[in-house]
Amino acid sequence: MLLDVRDLDVYYGAIHALQGISFHMEPGEIVTLIGANGAGKSTTLRTISGLIRPRRGTVTFKSQEISRTAAERIVRLGINHVPEGRKIFAPLTVLENLEMGAYTRDDPAEIRQSMERVFQTFPRLKERLTQLGGTLSGGEQQMLAIGRAMMAKPSLLLLDEPSMGLAPVVVEKIAEIIQEINATGTSILLVEQNAHMALTIAHRGYVMETGRIVLEGSADKLLHDPQVRQAYLGG
Ligand code: ATP
Repeated sequence: MLLDVRDLDVYYGAIHALQGISFHMEPGEIVTLIGANGAGKSTTLRTISGLIRPRRGTVTFKSQEISRTAAERIVRLGINHVPEGRKIFAPLTVLENLEMGAYTRDDPAEIRQSMERVFQTFPRLKERLTQLGGTLSGGEQQMLAIGRAMMAKPSLLLLDEPSMGLAPVVVEKIAEIIQEINATGTSILLVEQNAHMALTIAHRGYVMETGRIVLEGSADKLLHDPQVRQAYLGG
């Protein structure tokens, strides 16, 4: 097992945001968490990447318990988080943004290799190396955010709403890219409001409602589940 999340309880002050969340991932999988606004999807990712501490429960990554490990150490263990809203460094160039992604690594040859891989995945970024991050289009910023995460060479990539605010054709492109990255061996935990996109590319999924997992199964099963269709796929 790559990731084992057990009985997580997370609070923001008095708000009980995660109420006993359990799920797992096998190596090589794309797993999606879907659900409405405020269901706790982003909180789940933040807890895995060490940005929030759970009050109860455990996160185990490659057999190592990490729920009390520092976020920076978690990056070094191989988990990288692309937060909602992209959060690239707007005043830095594309190249500088990508270099920042490799801050935990020190072998220049390996870093160059990762940079080449990012350019293969995103030829657009290679054409815009000296452009400031903040002047990129929304889709390009999302590509840069994912590219920057790839520079850390993660074995698990946490993607929070990569389709948010993007035109349908750009969403399709991002979906293809997520599958390409997965095909090279990176496991992906994908949080999406766009349940259709997420279930089309994921292997398995979990449906969250107000801090709980209410349904789980193969992506195909969820895509055809009447309850899921009704609530998240427009009937
Ligand atoms: P969205 O897609 O809108 O981000 P989500 O499923 O990712 O939804 P979370 O962002 O994880 O949901 O939020 C879960 C709950 O925790 C919500 O009730 C939200 O209001 C609350 N919450 C999230 N962040 C904070 C915070 N920093 N302080 C207080 N409450 C928070």
